[in-house]
Amino acid sequence: MHALIEHARSFRDRAAADGAPLAPLAQGQTPLALFITCSDSRVVPSLITGAKPGELFELRTAGGIVPRYSLDRPSAEAATIEFAVEVLQVADVVVCGHSHCAAVAALARGDDLTTVPAMAGWLSAASDRTDDLGADGLDRAVQRHVVAQMERLRAHPAIRRRLDQGRIGLHGWFYEVHTGTVLTHRSGADAFRPL
Ligand SMILES: [Zn+2]
Repeated sequence: MHALIEHARSFRDRAAADGAPLAPLAQGQTPLALFITCSDSRVVPSLITGAKPGELFELRTAGGIVPRYSLDRPSAEAATIEFAVEVLQVADVVVCGHSHCAAVAALARGDDLTTVPAMAGWLSAASDRTDDLGADGLDRAVQRHVVAQMERLRAHPAIRRRLDQGRIGLHGWFYEVHTGTVLTHRSGADAFRPL
């Protein structure tokens, strides 16, 4: 933790030295995209995309899961998506899965999650498909998972309205944590290809 604290302590000076002024951010934010991904520490959206402060609005959950839209209970995920689209007017949404994802692996394998009951509840409530690990392995399971999250995202009212109007782009990505490679979903071929 010490290294993290030292880095945070000197961030202000380094930001000033980098010539990327932070002061204009006090006026507000106009992010280029909403980036939905897993909480996994190996996935660093701003590093992957080169986004600077103010350019990426992030929603991170265990497994990068997008819950089904419902107003029956408050949902941080639905609120974040709604705010990004309705207030910030993001033009694009990226749903990014990743290799070696423990949450998707647990879903696909049907792991015993009794020691992490909150995780078990989240995965079972937030996922409406039992993804089969299959012979093609975890990478393909994660990619099917990304497509499933995109389907659920399309049902969120704010997203659906803008899709109908052709005012928003949805992108499904798959990131390899061990190589840095990014693949993107080609809907025509229903396959993930290099970006
Ligand atoms: Zn993950």
